[in-house]
Amino acid sequence: MDNEKNLRGQAILTINAGSSSIKFSVFLLPQLNQILVGQIDDIGGDARFTVRWHSDNNQVSLNWPNATPPKNHREALSELINWLHRTANEIEIIAVGHRVVHGGQKYSAPVIVTEKVMKDLEALVILAPLHEPHNLAGIRAAQESFGAIPQIACFDTAFHRTHSFVEDCYAIPRYFYDQGVCRYGFHGLSYEYIAEQLMTKFPGESGGKVIIAHLGNGASMTALKGGVSIASTMGFSSLDGLPMGTRCGEIDPGVLLYMMQREGLSANEISEILYKESGLKGLSGGLSNDMRTLEASALPEAKEAIDYYVREVKREIGALTALMAGLDVIVFTGGIGSNSVMIRERVLSEMSWIGIDLDRESNRNGGTIISSKASRVLCLRINTDEERVIARHAFELTKKMCGV
Ligand code: ADP
Repeated sequence: MDNEKNLRGQAILTINAGSSSIKFSVFLLPQLNQILVGQIDDIGGDARFTVRWHSDNNQVSLNWPNATPPKNHREALSELINWLHRTANEIEIIAVGHRVVHGGQKYSAPVIVTEKVMKDLEALVILAPLHEPHNLAGIRAAQESFGAIPQIACFDTAFHRTHSFVEDCYAIPRYFYDQGVCRYGFHGLSYEYIAEQLMTKFPGESGGKVIIAHLGNGASMTALKGGVSIASTMGFSSLDGLPMGTRCGEIDPGVLLYMMQREGLSANEISEILYKESGLKGLSGGLSNDMRTLEASALPEAKEAIDYYVREVKREIGALTALMAGLDVIVFTGGIGSNSVMIRERVLSEMSWIGIDLDRESNRNGGTIISSKASRVLCLRINTDEERVIARHAFELTKKMCGV
């Protein structure tokens, strides 16, 4: 495997560091050609390293050179860099772009990471305790491994910083808002990619009233007017809105009070239930968080989990349409949105009243346009590419800073 890729030139590395994984990708400059994607899973345990090269679409698993898997993010990144040097030694990484879940109220655009930025982001850990610490660990590890090259933070919340106060507030005492307790909305890098795709491929429609449904393991929907986010289903945390693989989605806060007062559960125990045991997994009686498993199952609980999922997607499409006073375009993306024929078919066929006329054949055949010519609402299926958005931002900021 080593040294067999004859690639050369400058490149951007993108990193998406989760609790026990690092997803990465390399984009060659100046065209930002993606040459590989990969991930290191189960860091701290029996870590695995897999890479897929775009040149041959070949997925390979790699062994650890000294037979000891990395124990933390720093070691994992250092293995990744060593591997890159061995395998593609004529590629020079000139900047690293990081996915960072939370940019708070302050960061409405990507930034080059400085010590001041790191301090600001560390103060946001309280707002996203399950994601932010790992994102920041990824940045620290990259700083140590790469020395002086620029690290760029790209925020999932930034795309939604265009919301009005009314779209971002909760009806609780106002001093909470001043502390930062408000709606942030997430999946912004995915929305940014889809908004750009709309502008390029559907310029006539992209400025209208658009809903993007990012339905993956995490899921949310966003309403755009004139290409700008005006409302999103996710709120203060990544729990709100649609049900997800293991996250609950919208819930009456009274349920949390019940869990505390009647069941005597601690904040940590409730957090565990809402983030890891709920959503499709919880509703299917623990069967699975994976839509493919539920679709294939004959269990009534699996069917009910799907029914609830479809109900919530329809409900939020209705709500976002009401906020925009109309709907011109709906886009499905994310693992479920892009791949589940059944979920798209159910949602769209059950919403014909809103002006949707589904093209069932195109939907089944993986078409981009999945509504008929007669449909008043244009329905689309577009694969998202958050890594490309990160790479582009990293390149642009690095060019500005260093004149690359
Ligand atoms: P993440 O939010 O972690 O990035 P993805 O966007 O990759 O997740 O979505 C992962 C989910 O997509 C899986 O859990 C699975 O439920 C769903 N999925 C992937 N392929 C299919 C398919 N062919 N049919 C239905 N669901 C699918």
